[in-house]
Amino acid sequence: MKTGICPKCSSHEVFSGAGVALKKGPFGSNSIPIGLTSIAALDNLVCAECGYVESYVSEPEKLTEISRKWDKIEPEDFEKKDD
Ligand SMILES: [Zn+2]
Repeated sequence: MKTGICPKCSSHEVFSGAGVALKKGPFGSNSIPIGLTSIAALDNLVCAECGYVESYVSEPEKLTEISRKWDKIEPEDFEKKDD
């Protein structure tokens, strides 16, 4: 999607909301909770053909925080549960 091509419909009508002011939205509506006191704003990519939305955490330091605080999913654990 970041390449400008929609992964769902292959359209080239992809637009980025990375430059939208007040990205966190009213009441943090365009963000995800990381912990009790921390939220991460999202950059949204939208396909104007099919409406597909892809979201990315916009600040690199929030990615570091998430990797410290959240439970990591190990691919092998997921495979075991699937059996
Ligand atoms: Zn699309």
